[in-house]
Amino acid sequence: MKYDPITKEDVTKMSVTPNLLNYKKAREDFRWEDIVRELDGFDDGGLNIAYEAIDRHIKTPIKNKVALYWEGKDGETEEYTFLDLQRLSNRFANVLKGLGVRKGDRIFTFGDRIPEIYISLLGGLKIGGVIGPLFSAFGPDAVKDRLGDCEARVLVTTAKLAGKVKEIVEDLPALETIIIVNRGNVPYELGNREVSYEALMNQASDALDIEKTDKEDYAIIHYTSGTTGKPKGVVHAHQAVVGHYATAKYVLDLQPEDIYWCTADPGWVTGTSYGIFGPWSNGISQVVYEGGFRASNWYRVIEKYRVTVWYSAPTAIRMLMKAGTEVVEKYDLASLRYLASVGEPLNPEAIFWGNKAFGLSFHDNWWQTETGCIQIANYPVQDIRPGSMGRSFPGVTAAILDDKCEKELPPGEEGHLVLRAGWPSMFRTYWNKQELYDSMFNNGWYITGDRATMDMDGYFWFVGRADDVINTAGHLVGPFEVESALVEHPAVAEAGVIGIPDPLAMEVVKAFVSLKDGYEPSDELMRDIKKFARKKLHAVACPRKIEFLPGLPKTKSGKIMRRLLKARELGLPEGDTSTLEE
Ligand code: AMP
Repeated sequence: MKYDPITKEDVTKMSVTPNLLNYKKAREDFRWEDIVRELDGFDDGGLNIAYEAIDRHIKTPIKNKVALYWEGKDGETEEYTFLDLQRLSNRFANVLKGLGVRKGDRIFTFGDRIPEIYISLLGGLKIGGVIGPLFSAFGPDAVKDRLGDCEARVLVTTAKLAGKVKEIVEDLPALETIIIVNRGNVPYELGNREVSYEALMNQASDALDIEKTDKEDYAIIHYTSGTTGKPKGVVHAHQAVVGHYATAKYVLDLQPEDIYWCTADPGWVTGTSYGIFGPWSNGISQVVYEGGFRASNWYRVIEKYRVTVWYSAPTAIRMLMKAGTEVVEKYDLASLRYLASVGEPLNPEAIFWGNKAFGLSFHDNWWQTETGCIQIANYPVQDIRPGSMGRSFPGVTAAILDDKCEKELPPGEEGHLVLRAGWPSMFRTYWNKQELYDSMFNNGWYITGDRATMDMDGYFWFVGRADDVINTAGHLVGPFEVESALVEHPAVAEAGVIGIPDPLAMEVVKAFVSLKDGYEPSDELMRDIKKFARKKLHAVACPRKIEFLPGLPKTKSGKIMRRLLKARELGLPEGDTSTLEE
């Protein structure tokens, strides 16, 4: 269903002149080289993300501006200026050097949204390391798979999470050092390979010569899920900061006076590209709230810090909707001027609700871990067509290709959403999976794995994934990962995993399980399987529902037919079942 456009005058506060004034002209004039000139870079043409985000501001009055307003789970608060972050990240870089960590080594973080995680990530980049932020909600096996795949050398974690790491450390021979952050100074005995963050930071120097990385040197690795195999490591180079900077400026419209809040965790690419590098490379103050979702807490954060630009996700917006407008009315949210959303389709109802609740529209935008920065967006200067992801970013060319990914389709026809390869933050490889990487490109197009349409005016409309990947609360979950975890349970013979619709999270994970001989379906067994899965996967990837079946539908070659499981679950036509095993 199509809705009337929402005119920008209705729901955009034009008290501030937007950075992007004329979309058409911006597209015509846009050159990435001009953006590069707005950044500093090194004399030899090199680039370092952490330098662009923090150190370049130290030569300007921005150095004493608050970069980070931090609020912890229990309400404790801290403030860090750009200068503070420069010194602390220098120190951490020196800590790493002292431990013998070198350019190119993989340095992971596994912790809640605490300042030390941000400092470690910046410090890791400063020595030329490849940083990999992980969600604290990961189970031990999820951490092991990622660290093991790219042979991480260092892990920064917390005393609280160290128990999970202890379970897997023997399986990670390349992991030389585990740096334990112990904020509350709780009694903690350092174990094998473990060192204290606080002790090392106290001894380290503030002075550092940043590694003069090349723009093509690897900088960030984020793991993302596909339909087959374990999650794959999406690798970004230092040049990605050019994309972070430009899109934070022109899509999120960040301006010097803004107080910005991105609700994403750095474990997800949004929490690094737009929770660290986008805002800071623009010299913007941002809020990081360690606590989880609660409507009243979120509004309190906006009110307290006078947040002006707020970047969130559809599941969170739907949860705010559920909490109702009465909660909104208890808070003074007049500081807000611009709202944006990413991660899943943003339903028109959520936009209409935002208009009512905040007098502002959530501006949807689209991108992926692989793209590194926003590719398709709604901008402050254009009307919103509810349900559309917006138009491609100036400097980005998006198109719809036919089923073979060869021919461009005309407006209105559904096909593969593709992007012309070559924007600065495009991923550079999948770690150790170059062939898979190469298979994602055809005739100079990067094939995104999403299906969409484009209208006559260049607005893109999301249709769905072209594969079995499940999007639950904005997290991509590969069915194979969940199936692999489930079949490790002693009672499980086979598992087939699909996404089923959910009003809040868009989709939730449902598993169909057949049991080994000698096991009978029961509620207790179901609970035990769920508990088992929680140890292995990210919390959101764990099946919300499990259904026991005597056997699973399979192809003649033995592949579980998830498509059929889904069709049966949703009462849809079963389609071609000629390959079904009898
Ligand atoms: P991730 O790499 O985890 O950030 O997930 C990227 C995927 O999330 C995309 O390929 C889409 O399937 C989905 N996605 C992201 N943003 C949007 C959006 N605005 N509308 C619809 N789907 C989205």
